[in-house]
Order: sequence, then structure tokens, then C-alpha cells
Amino acid sequence: MIKRCLSLLLLCLGVMFSLPASAQGYTQTKYPIVLVHGLFGFEALGPVDYFWRIPDSLRASGATVYTAAVSQANNSVVRGEQLLRELESIKARTGAQKFNLIGHSHGGQTVRYVAAVRPDLVASVTTVGTPHAGSKTADGIKAIVNATGTTGLAADIANALAGLIGYLSGNPGTPQNALAALMELSTAGAADFNRRFPQAAPTTRCGSGAGTVNGVRYFSAGGISVLTNVLDVSDGALGLTATFFGFEQNDGLVSQCSSRWGTVLRDDYPWNHGDEVNQVFGLRGLFAPDPVGFYRAQANRLRNLGL
Ligand code: CA
Repeated sequence: MIKRCLSLLLLCLGVMFSLPASAQGYTQTKYPIVLVHGLFGFEALGPVDYFWRIPDSLRASGATVYTAAVSQANNSVVRGEQLLRELESIKARTGAQKFNLIGHSHGGQTVRYVAAVRPDLVASVTTVGTPHAGSKTADGIKAIVNATGTTGLAADIANALAGLIGYLSGNPGTPQNALAALMELSTAGAADFNRRFPQAAPTTRCGSGAGTVNGVRYFSAGGISVLTNVLDVSDGALGLTATFFGFEQNDGLVSQCSSRWGTVLRDDYPWNHGDEVNQVFGLRGLFAPDPVGFYRAQANRLRNLGL
């Protein structure tokens, strides 16, 4: 009897130590997750992931995760076609039939483009801090460069910066067109993109959109804090870009209303635009929820939906 009890105890201990509590399989989606960066973003700069510490955390409990390498600055058709080629390549290599696409900022329009033209390849779209209705910061910059006649110069500088980020992240030579990105991220440019690719658009102003279009599930999330951590060097820049919004709630670059698309998970996280991808180095507000936890919960949601 004692021997049987002991072996049962050892068995239980073995299970406890081989399975980290609630972690095993929590993010194990049926289809691979593909993370897509925003404007001036990157797959990884040396040891620094754009989605800081997020891919590894998702992988640790069962997800297959890819980080896309698309142009740092370009319109969503160009970036979307690049992503499409990456998905086709992964499919040919691994046999994956569909993908769960997650895009931050301008990466949101990139994944929406792919879901619109190739819904057969997409299980779900999740956008985080995406300016679906455009960004007042883009409107403001557009107005300033127009008024000062510096559009060409500003575009040259932005393209050089985009090219440098591409080079440093190991993807040199990708086409950069910062002006096309700026136009598309403006209110007028975003409206034009939405007319061409309306799948899961909010049906009322600042409302929600369809949860499923062409078999693809659509989700969105956004933040409304700007200055969240005095130690984060990026907060000062976001404090400046936020001035274009006046009293409208925003994350430094994207308004609360503009982030809404498809099923809105939450549009008022106490995060700024960098916090949404756990930057810089995980620095965020003292009581703000962990962005890594958000991505893990979303993977778990997709898993529970059989995606
Ligand atoms: Ca931060």
C-alpha cells in the first residue's frame, strides 16, 4: 500500500515538473502565427526583436511563430505582396495551409491586404495599434512638409533611414517608399485603402466590424496612453507626435477610434505605441498589463477557436 502511494506521489511530481503550470499547449494554435512589423520596423535588429520577447514566449507553450521581413516603409500593397510571398514560401517548405496573421501599426493594413486577396491562406487577422482610419500625426507631417516645400527632402531622409534599418536587420535592398507610406497612413489615404479593402471595417463610426469575412476571423486592439515610463527613451518622441491629436485619446501615433477593426478586443489599454510591442525592452507603465500576456491570451483565443 505504502509502495503504491509513493509511486503515485512520484508520478504526480513528475507530471508537475515536466508540465509548467498552465503553460504547455496554452499558445499551441493549429496554424502558425506570423508577426508583421509596422513603419520603420524590422524582424530583428541583432538580438532585439521588434515584438520584444513575444515570439519566444509564444513558442515556449506550443506556438509555431514566424516574424515577417517586409519593407520598412512602403504602401500596404507592396508590403502585402512581400508577406504573401513569405507565406507561400513557408507553406511550400512546411505544408502549413493557413496562417494566423498579427500586425502592429502599419503591419495591420499589410495583413488585411493579404486576407483580402488570399483569404484561403489566412485563418485570422489581429491588428494592434493600427491606424485603420489614418493617423493625425501623418496628417500633420504631410501638412508641414507640403507647406515648407520639403516633401522631397523629408522623403529622401525617411527612405535612407528605412533602408538603413532594412540593411541592419539583414534584409538589404527591399524597396522603400516613405512617401507612399505617409500618404496611406494619412486620413485620406487610409480611407482610400479601406474603400479598396473593406473586409471587417467598422459598420458605424468608432464601432466594430464583422467578426468573420470570407472565412477569416478579424480582431483588433489598441492603447490610449502616451507617457508611460520615465526610463523609456521612446516616450519623449511619442509625447511630441501625440500633440497632433489635441484632446482625442491616442497611443502617441494612433487614436483609440482609428485602432478599431473587426471584433474589438479592447481599445483602451494603458499602453503607448511602443508598449504595444513590449518596447523599449519591456518598459511600460507601472500598473499596465504585460503586452506579452496580451499576445499569449490572443494565441490561446485562436487555439480555442480551432485556428
Ligand atoms: Ca514603452
